[in-house]
Amino acid sequence: MGSIRLFRVRGIEIKMHITFPLILVYAAIQFGLLSRRGFSLSGALFGVVVTLILFACVVIHELSHSLTAMRMGFPVRDITLLPLGGVAQIERMPEKPGQEFLMAVAGPLSNVIIAIALVVIGTLARVNVAASLLAMLRNPLAIGWSSILPYLIFTNLSLAAFNLLPAFPMDGGRVLRALLATVMPHARATATAVAVGQALAWLLGLAGLLTGSLLWILVAVFIFSGAAQEGRMIAVKNVLEGLSVRHAFSRRPLALSPDQPLSHAADLILESFQSDFPVCAGELGPDGEPACDLDRLAGLLTHTDLIRALRQYPPDTPVRQVMRVDFPRVRLDDSLYDVQQRMAENRIDAVPVFDGERFLGLLTRRDLSEVYQLLSVSPELLRHREVV
Ligand SMILES: [Zn+2]
Repeated sequence: MGSIRLFRVRGIEIKMHITFPLILVYAAIQFGLLSRRGFSLSGALFGVVVTLILFACVVIHELSHSLTAMRMGFPVRDITLLPLGGVAQIERMPEKPGQEFLMAVAGPLSNVIIAIALVVIGTLARVNVAASLLAMLRNPLAIGWSSILPYLIFTNLSLAAFNLLPAFPMDGGRVLRALLATVMPHARATATAVAVGQALAWLLGLAGLLTGSLLWILVAVFIFSGAAQEGRMIAVKNVLEGLSVRHAFSRRPLALSPDQPLSHAADLILESFQSDFPVCAGELGPDGEPACDLDRLAGLLTHTDLIRALRQYPPDTPVRQVMRVDFPRVRLDDSLYDVQQRMAENRIDAVPVFDGERFLGLLTRRDLSEVYQLLSVSPELLRHREVV
């Protein structure tokens, strides 16, 4: 949502967030005002051009992560450009330390390679690259068309260095965890990497306060919350990994028949606690409700599907016209963590649960968050509960 598609590279959609042009406006103003003789149009144009080139480097950085991930078999959804950088949506993160290391290091490495290539190009064009870099650093107010090469070399190296800070959510946080995970269990490696990242964020925040740099303080907050989020994700994973579908799924859900109208699904949502529905073909059960026995499960209508359908179609449209027919099926003994990953990959909020051929119920996103919340406050709950 809120993004514009630009192009595709090997099946990966490259998108631009609608706020992205803001950074171009910002760059135009900043570089336009660099020269002391008021606003310079040439400076503003330089700002826009150089920012566009930098973002091309950011796309290469994200593509390097993504293509490495895809080569190792991890699906990548898209890359979105935001005013402050790019984000690659990789559906599932590798857990083997070697794979995580390669994937994390690929991004910063691409910026180092770009910088080296620019040095080579400069040298071939008989530019004294080292001297022009020094000159630019000594007099940053004079940055302009003549310093485009040293500027791009400098910014690419800075991108690589910043991303290699050993703190989540930076690539360096993953590199650190991958290295730690070769000598300790994965969970402890994560906890250690999270702690290192947060310590670094404190130091950076403190330095920001002492030097009065708002930017450093913002970066510190960003790193601190990113590290906390990674810690939480691992906590969820640790809880879910030890459980199977039988511990969490919703039994005997209300069902829809393919011929019922969408408005009936909306009624059920309002009248019950349920918001995702199996769609069952065949005769109605003894209570006059559709019954999903054996292989009569014809489809699935999730809450998100229903809302999307009601935006396009009138409420009397039959369920069969908009239901999903292609969805993963899960078994009682599947690990909750694996199922959560599959649901994320398939972008689906509920999956049907089967015991052999018998349909038993649905496992929904809400079930997953409930089991996590309950077990994280009271881990003994599971021991007191006998399940099918
Ligand atoms: Zn990166």
